[in-house]
Amino acid sequence: MRVEDAGKDIELDVEGVSEYLGIPVSRLRKLLDKRELLQNWGEYQHLFRFVSTFSGMESGTVIYQKDGCFELIKGFPKIQRAMLLEPAINTHFSETDTVCVEEKMNGFNVRAILFDGKITAITRGGYVCPYSTEKAGQLLNIDFFNDHPELVLHGEMVGPDNPYVPKKIYDDVDSIDFYVFDMRYKGSGEPLPVYERRKLAEEYGFTQTRLFGEFTKKEAPEKIRSIIMELGKIEHEGVVIKDPDMNIPPVKYTCSQSNCADLRHAFRFYNDVGRDYLFSRVVREGFQAFEWKESEEDLKTRCLQLGESILYPMIDAIGEMEKGERVAEEVQIRVSSLDTLFKFKEYLRRQGVEAIFDEPEKAGDDFIIKIRKLNKSTNDKTMSMFKGELW
Ligand code: ATP
Ligand code: MG
Repeated sequence: MRVEDAGKDIELDVEGVSEYLGIPVSRLRKLLDKRELLQNWGEYQHLFRFVSTFSGMESGTVIYQKDGCFELIKGFPKIQRAMLLEPAINTHFSETDTVCVEEKMNGFNVRAILFDGKITAITRGGYVCPYSTEKAGQLLNIDFFNDHPELVLHGEMVGPDNPYVPKKIYDDVDSIDFYVFDMRYKGSGEPLPVYERRKLAEEYGFTQTRLFGEFTKKEAPEKIRSIIMELGKIEHEGVVIKDPDMNIPPVKYTCSQSNCADLRHAFRFYNDVGRDYLFSRVVREGFQAFEWKESEEDLKTRCLQLGESILYPMIDAIGEMEKGERVAEEVQIRVSSLDTLFKFKEYLRRQGVEAIFDEPEKAGDDFIIKIRKLNKSTNDKTMSMFKGELW
């Protein structure tokens, strides 16, 4: 028995799932065999997650049985990116006259549901994150889930006390907050229209992503450009452009400064971060600079910022490693209960993340724990360069 499978006494009702999803039993068994349909552990072992996109369902889709019935929490759909605002808006939103522009928060995506009477936070991949679960339980009004058991609450968790995004971006978030940006029906995954969702979120006192306004498609590219310029100055990430009725999937667009901040971060760990991640950020700069027909001077600034974001952090990191330091991402969490800390450690271990946890420090009623996530591949690669090995 694998360690991961320890303590599992719940079996998936394959026949039931087959009937519920309209997928043949044989296909489900194959998914289970290939470990493409995986069971959670511990108190969440009733939850099963689809590792990859399957039969029109996004990866990270979760299914579980409740009172003899199944519930399906679809994975959060990928949001495509506009590279050139004007043609992208005209083509993608051809069926609507106006678009809503919301702020895109830079944190991590969480689906919140009520599970066994407790607010539970599911990650993009379909895991239950014990840390996000503790936080969502404290931040969200449980009445929403009792009043609307048919809905899944989608939000971005951001703030300095977060274990996934090692950047301080939002001055007004002291610890961590949950910014609601979507509500979708269980089962179908259909989203609520923008204003309906925002009204409901307000009724329950949720923090929401900012709505900059609703614009005609003609005025949108220019409006978005000025929003992006302002957001860039404060190093916020960008916007998500949405059909007010949410019949058309949203589109994202980001600030140059946020691209550069990503690159600054990523090039410290050049061998751990995927090449697509780095490359796509450079290409975005090319299209944005082209569309905005920048002055020679602005263009020069952009080139300089891009180059500096790539080279300085790398050179710094190589220097640190030469001195024998290991490069690591530094993050921190703030928990009310040490039990959450233990569960979170176990959670990261199971994800294969190599992390060093400092001793908890008391902070009011909470504990703050600093975490260093080691980027082994970058450390090993750099050390091998110092030993004279070839690339
Ligand atoms: P994706 O597969 O969705 O492109 P990604 O991991 O590359 O995912 P991002 O580039 O961060 O993600 O962009 C999409 C994510 O932005 C969403 O999954 C969501 O978590 C986040 N987000 C933040 N603010 C909003 C918002 N207002 N509306 C929709 N999504 C938002
Ligand atoms: Mg993001």
